[in-house]
Amino acid sequence: MPRFVIIGAGPTGLGAAWRLNRLGIHDWLLLEKTPTAGGLAGSVTDEAGFTWDLGGHVQFSHYRVFDELMDDLLPDGWIEHEREAWVWMRDRFIPYPFQNNIRHLPHEEMVECVCGIVQALKNRSDARPKHFADQFERSMGPGIARVFLHPYNFKVWAYPPEELNTKWLGERVAIPDLERVLRNVFAGKDDVSWGPNNTFRFPKYGGTGSIWRECARRLPAERMRFGASVEHIDTAARTVRLSSSETIPYTYLINSLPLDLFVRNSDLASPLGPHADKLVHSSTHIVGLGLKGTAPEHLKTKCWMYFPEENCPFYRVTVFSNYSPNNVPDATRFWSLMAEVSESPVKPVDEERVVEEVIQGALNTRLIASRDEICDLFRVRLEHGYPTPSLRRDEALDVLLPALAERGVYSRGRFGAWKYEVSNQDHSLMQGVEVVDHLVLGTDEITLWHPEVANGPKKKGPVEP
Ligand SMILES: Cc1cc2nc3c(=O)[nH]c(=O)nc-3n(C[C@H](O)[C@H](O)[C@H](O)COP(=O)(O)OP(=O)(O)OC[C@H]3O[C@@H](n4cnc5c(N)ncnc54)[C@H](O)[C@@H]3O)c2cc1C
Repeated sequence: MPRFVIIGAGPTGLGAAWRLNRLGIHDWLLLEKTPTAGGLAGSVTDEAGFTWDLGGHVQFSHYRVFDELMDDLLPDGWIEHEREAWVWMRDRFIPYPFQNNIRHLPHEEMVECVCGIVQALKNRSDARPKHFADQFERSMGPGIARVFLHPYNFKVWAYPPEELNTKWLGERVAIPDLERVLRNVFAGKDDVSWGPNNTFRFPKYGGTGSIWRECARRLPAERMRFGASVEHIDTAARTVRLSSSETIPYTYLINSLPLDLFVRNSDLASPLGPHADKLVHSSTHIVGLGLKGTAPEHLKTKCWMYFPEENCPFYRVTVFSNYSPNNVPDATRFWSLMAEVSESPVKPVDEERVVEEVIQGALNTRLIASRDEICDLFRVRLEHGYPTPSLRRDEALDVLLPALAERGVYSRGRFGAWKYEVSNQDHSLMQGVEVVDHLVLGTDEITLWHPEVANGPKKKGPVEP
């Protein structure tokens, strides 16, 4: 039997381990450098008793097998939510999706946005967009692009939208329906349901990370090593070396550590390094504010909010205590907010000042009324936060992924395969599941190679053996 070595106990690595276990294959070993499972989908409970995700995590699912696994892992452990997403700008909240609710804008800007949609419809063409900014300007019109999409996307991605490709789109941006937009404007109606995720569920206890800790707990402990950091990979000898200097052989290596780091820490650094250098990512600062009292009326039912303006450093804030009352030590006395700030070489962030800027931003945008409300602070910087869908990404991936596969290395997951469009938890888990099925059963890996199918109607997932 071949020996499978898996790097990383995030959703991808756990998906691969879960599937191997399910297929009755025993010769596998999972190596994780931290003491716990979850990776970017992990959670932390701090000393004050506040629980934090590493950025507000919501369960989107494109696969029935993912839903079934979630049901199985936390049978009574979920809280159901209606997605309530808002945009804060011009000193007011606008329901999401933005384009269907432009009636909330100041009058002149609303007119600019409507005229822009008309212009976009008049100029519609089949020509391929040059980049993301070109795409959204052509589909939404120049008004919505100027007022919201351009500033917001720069804040999220930390790169100008002119430097992003359009492949990652799909269901994430709706094409505006002019009739619907106008009906909402004239009828004064809010139009808030959009996309496949208008409801979602969240773990009752322990944050998103509780899912992955439970998943790891159900797998054979003797095949998982926590605190085992892979330092070097010799793809010619098919071995990985740990920081303890131990060397472990493999037949197949399923990798979920960031692809650029993987290449640089392998014997392929010299031939493949220049391709790995083309991969672009942004970093994410997560700042959690533990707050005294209960959420103010205007935030009581909100899930998350987008912030396109410059009066605050964050692009998104989650009312994390609304996801589960157990995310705070005592829901009758505390509530919590979690802010995300992006960083890149073209959008630097001063680490010393980021917490203060988030607090000032929360005051500016009226999320909190006073600094005195803050009783707990959480902060973490994720070096690899978002796998940027840059213009040259696929050129790099088209070389790197096949070259690694030739040497028995299958790099998968959010940063293992670097495809933002299939980089959520469900996609990552399924990339792990599907690569095992590919190696063992010879089936196609739909999620990695056909993201548009993966993001289409919900699928059943792999057939049970
Ligand atoms: C700010 C933010 C918000 C997000 N929001 C959502 C959301 O709302 N919904 C959603 O579904 N997804 C969301 N995601 C994405 C989600 O976190 C990822 O889909 C998921 O964590 C990716 O899993 P992965 O296993 O591919 O990678 P990771 O989670 O990054 O796991 C990789 C693992 O490899 C380990 N590792 C790294 N280097 C080594 C080494 N040298 N040796 C051994 N182990 C190593 C790491 O410690 C880690 O545990 C969000 C992510 C971020 C950053």
